[in-house]
Amino acid sequence: MSDCLFCKIAAGEIPSKKLHEDELCYAFYDIDPQAPTHFLVIPKAHIPSVSGVDEANAPTVGHIFAVIAELTRTLGIESYRVVSNIGQQAGQSVPHLHFHVLAGRDMTWPPG
Ligand code: AMP
Ligand code: ZN
Repeated sequence: MSDCLFCKIAAGEIPSKKLHEDELCYAFYDIDPQAPTHFLVIPKAHIPSVSGVDEANAPTVGHIFAVIAELTRTLGIESYRVVSNIGQQAGQSVPHLHFHVLAGRDMTWPPG
């Protein structure tokens, strides 16, 4: 999508602190970290949110979770939280599917 911030980051048109890239996804550190480790993993293809996941793009989402497991192993992170906000009330501010990976501090439950 031409006017999407995360499409532009995945394409390298807007700079980011890249952690990982492959043909399906892109991982980079959040610009406003909410934990000592806070990165985002996004599909390269534009999907608006989890609400846009279907049978056709579900393999990409499964791949993203495999990448999260591998990246956290590489970073030596054993405990972490994966969050995806869907829609305004849940706090989604960028309408391109992304999974937050947060680690390095105690987390509360339920989330606010
Ligand atoms: P959400 O509010 O769940 O849609 O998450 C969007 C996240 O993207 C927020 O945590 C922002 O801090 C992060 N963000 C926004 N712009 C950038 C950027 N240019 N580089 C890295 N992270 C960003
Ligand atoms: Zn996009």
